[in-house]
Amino acid sequence: MSGANEVRWARRVPQPTIRRLYALDARGIVDEELIDEVGYAFYARCESIRRATEAHAGRVTCPGCRAVVLRTSHSKDEAIVCACGWETTWGEYHRSFQRKQLHGGAAYGSFLEFLERWPATRSPRDKLLLIDRLVHALHVNAIEQKELLFARSAAVNLIEGKLREVNDLLEALAYGAGTAPELHATREAWRDTRARASETMARRFGRRRRA
Ligand SMILES: [Zn+2]
Repeated sequence: MSGANEVRWARRVPQPTIRRLYALDARGIVDEELIDEVGYAFYARCESIRRATEAHAGRVTCPGCRAVVLRTSHSKDEAIVCACGWETTWGEYHRSFQRKQLHGGAAYGSFLEFLERWPATRSPRDKLLLIDRLVHALHVNAIEQKELLFARSAAVNLIEGKLREVNDLLEALAYGAGTAPELHATREAWRDTRARASETMARRFGRRRRA
């Protein structure tokens, strides 16, 4: 059964494309083509994240007719058979998206929000704000009393590179006279949330060591 070979997953966006988007915006240049290029690439990527996350939860999308085939076990040998004739095994299907940073995790809501809002967003400025929101989304896990346990950049699911490289990219994005105030606010919130999470980690590890 080689049906898994027909499954396609969108690639992550190269770092230079994102760097260029922010550099132009900082200079007040509106490059509609580039904004659309990034937006549609993110859209495709979010759609792949949605499909992979759904498959993990037991709902596999057929690459042929788009029907959803329900999975009943976690066995790699379980046959996934669509009414249209497409078939594979769960093991093969899972292998097609493994290690591709496609699990929605704790940022799943942010990916779904982009999928919902992007098609209805018209002006280049609104599109850029939506892209910026997604670029700075975080996988956040909170424990009691709003104490953040971790905050991991969701950009690693969207932009090429390891987590550290993607964080460095985000830190180094150009901001200038042309940058909208909303973009500054998004970045500040991203920095602040990550700082709070690492404080929590330090405090908890400190406690554990003393105990
Ligand atoms: Zn089908």
